Amino acid sequence: MATRKTAYRESMETFDRAAELIRLNSRVRLEIEEPDFEHIFYVTIDTRDRLVPVGPEEEEKHRDIPDSDVKAADAFEPLADGKFILHRRALLEADITIRRGVIRIPGKGLFQIERGGPRKFKAYRVQHNQVRGPYKGSIRFHQDVSLDLFKVLAADMTWKTAIAEIPFGGAKGGIRIDPFAYSKEEMEHLTLRYVYKLKNLMGPFLDIPAPDVGTNGEIMAIMMRQYTDGEREKHKLRGVVTGKDVRIGGSEGRLKATGQGVVYCIEEWAKEKGFQLAGARVLLQGFGNVGASAAEILAGLGAKIVAVNDAHGTVHSDAGLDIPSLVHHVHENPANLRRTVAGFPGGAAISKADFWALDADLLVPAALGREITPEVAERLRVRLVAEGANGPTTPEGDRVLAARAIDVIPDVICNAGGVTVSYFEWLQNQRLERWNEAEVNGRLERIVKSNYAVIRDIAADRPRKTPLHDSRRYCTGRAVDVRTAAMVLALKRIEAHYLLEGFSQ
Ligand code: NAD
Repeated sequence: MATRKTAYRESMETFDRAAELIRLNSRVRLEIEEPDFEHIFYVTIDTRDRLVPVGPEEEEKHRDIPDSDVKAADAFEPLADGKFILHRRALLEADITIRRGVIRIPGKGLFQIERGGPRKFKAYRVQHNQVRGPYKGSIRFHQDVSLDLFKVLAADMTWKTAIAEIPFGGAKGGIRIDPFAYSKEEMEHLTLRYVYKLKNLMGPFLDIPAPDVGTNGEIMAIMMRQYTDGEREKHKLRGVVTGKDVRIGGSEGRLKATGQGVVYCIEEWAKEKGFQLAGARVLLQGFGNVGASAAEILAGLGAKIVAVNDAHGTVHSDAGLDIPSLVHHVHENPANLRRTVAGFPGGAAISKADFWALDADLLVPAALGREITPEVAERLRVRLVAEGANGPTTPEGDRVLAARAIDVIPDVICNAGGVTVSYFEWLQNQRLERWNEAEVNGRLERIVKSNYAVIRDIAADRPRKTPLHDSRRYCTGRAVDVRTAAMVLALKRIEAHYLLEGFSQ
């Protein structure tokens, strides 16, 4: 019987190729080709009552319902799915009428009250490998996550931390939920419950989460509080999560670190190709933490972001989008509940299919995985794909890019800026220190650019030592593609631990 090819198995193609190439020790291969631990558990919360808009066809039936007068401004919390959370505390001074479970709010319309109650969500934490240091990897809150996906992402972290040469291993986890359909308070409860269940498996020297899709510094603050609450030496534990707000032990530069790392890689590529970034035309997918930061930094270097695609739309301007206005539209406008570029007045709406085919120099995917399929890769008219997202290119898509001579900066180096500054944050927490942004970025630039140089040397089979990097230990005697080269670097660094330290029994 044919077994289904999992995303994990598929993502390990590069691993297999690199392992063969360097004749990776066979026991090491067995140790690292599957995760150390795969945790699946459930978290429950009590959800609040919701107000669901009543459709126009139902309105006539509720003609008799008078307006309700709710004075408190925070009585209703709008959710991105069109519903409202009804906060009971706000009803204390209200004059309301509810008939047949329906309420009329002036200026908002008619709503059916949907009863809240307990709900259960599937949660995950995959701890892939810790031979080089504590498990490290972010937390994703998204409706399309699975164990298979978290295995892929956790393994990516093992490779990425080895490539950035920081003393961490790989992990990933999260909850299967659409966070936009829940209130802030519900998300807080869910996060607390997640940490409650995971507490024994986390720790600054055991497993260190960070933000990813659907999570942010606020969620990290909640995780840290839950983990450290009641601990006598809680300040020693601040490094249990990274990506915190700078005011509570986060690092300067962390918010933009992933985007900054993407741009450091692009700069190196441009230098090698004699390409001018000023005036370069950029396509960007995703305008969250990574995408928006990369856009701001690239625009600051004079590049033109000609189109941005996200989960809810695409905006395009041939002259280049005004990035500060777009950041304001997406991230600073409270009415934009889905945090989307759609509806941005400074650009024209185009289809996703047209987005891929736009004429540009660079594409920065900074959204979800598996977006650059063979069909998309065939349509691209760019010179470089700089992978801000994790796993944005499918293996078949990768083959098409190679055949069309479109360069790729693989995710494991391209977006390693985030975890690298997470390591700086963790170090500052351990030492009770505080570094400024220039110091953070200086160290980040050296790490990203020197390791990217090692990868390019492995790819070109060009062993050498310069003041900034030394690739002699890693070259394999033959030229390989850049993605395989990155994996060679990761595997050689990981293998050294097993070979030099041996195996615990
Ligand atoms: P985010 O939640 O801040 O933003 C995600 C963006 O992707 C949003 O703009 C969203 O609209 C868009 N998106 C979601 N689904 C989409 C779809 N189907 N089509 C097009 N766009 C879609 O997340 P983020 O932290 O910016 O992470 C983005 C990517 O970068 C992820 O792959 C993540 O794993 C990776 N990454 C993030 C970090 C980090 O520090 N945050 C570090 C390394 C890698």
